Amino acid sequence: MLKERLYGKTLNELIAVAKRIGLPGFAAKQIADWLYKKEIQSIEEMTNLSKKTREILSTDYEVGLYPPVNVSESSDGTRKYLYKVLKDKYIETAYIPDNERATICVSSQAGCKMGCIFCMTGKQGFQGNLSTNEILNQFRSMPEFLNLTNMVYMGMGEPLDNLNEVLKSLEILTSEWGYGWSPTRITVSTVGLIAGIKEFLAKSRCHLAVSLHSPFDEERKKLMPIQRTNTVEEVLDIIREFEINNQRRISFEYILFKGLNDTPRHIKELARILNGIKCRINIIRFHQIPGAQFQSPDLSATISFKEALNAKGILTTIRASRGVDIQAACGLLSTIEQNKPV
Ligand code: SF4
Repeated sequence: MLKERLYGKTLNELIAVAKRIGLPGFAAKQIADWLYKKEIQSIEEMTNLSKKTREILSTDYEVGLYPPVNVSESSDGTRKYLYKVLKDKYIETAYIPDNERATICVSSQAGCKMGCIFCMTGKQGFQGNLSTNEILNQFRSMPEFLNLTNMVYMGMGEPLDNLNEVLKSLEILTSEWGYGWSPTRITVSTVGLIAGIKEFLAKSRCHLAVSLHSPFDEERKKLMPIQRTNTVEEVLDIIREFEINNQRRISFEYILFKGLNDTPRHIKELARILNGIKCRINIIRFHQIPGAQFQSPDLSATISFKEALNAKGILTTIRASRGVDIQAACGLLSTIEQNKPV
């Protein structure tokens, strides 16, 4: 019989487990401590629970941690891990060291429904939502777990399309009974799902990154089909209406494509639509993927674009391209793994 995984359960869910097997409520807090504050791999190691309790717990449950199945390392120190999920699917998780920071980039779904045409994961199609266990196992089972300082939900999948599991993972990361991380160390990205943004802003205090890639609806529609039902203006209206405290950061991700979204017209329109929103733009130079008709802009054009936006009063940074030599663009490694002959 397949056992249920304890790792990835919230305190309330652990209370329900304790109740189900006849343990007192405080046992749930003890189990949470073992799961999220100590480095154990098995129920047997939960030594402040009696032997009998551990036996009862082990009948139907297991801790449920599992290591990555593969890793590739870039010359710049970025590592890309491959985890097996949902029985026979693969997801990617990146470890990105940068001076004192060490960021983990996690996946929230296997494949993705959103179909952004510049993205390898989009080309895989949707294969399933990750459970909270599968989201957080990427973090906990990463060999660099103890060094991690920041976490971004920018790997495979659209996090707000799997919002329940993502919110539960954020609860575990930021609760005092969980990992106790500050929400300001965590950023969740989205293509701009309206209902999801509303719920995420209301239920979490983590940073939000919206993938923008063009200020023009028609152009954005060609890059990101989701624009048909979730327009830029609607996304910006929600952000304007929501009271964003000073601790929280709203950013817009902007993949720069040569000759497509890098013109003075784009700069002018970005300045117009973002007027009055306290935010920043992160520019990412397009990473070439197989079969894409796009080109990466050169560095000088990217810097000019950034400076022009800064001159318009929009705080803009260029996100360094990391791990290019290990195919770090999201979805490439798992696509290769999935297509390997059995
Ligand atoms: S860019 Fe993100 S949302 Fe778009 S298809 Fe890729 S994984 Fe999905």
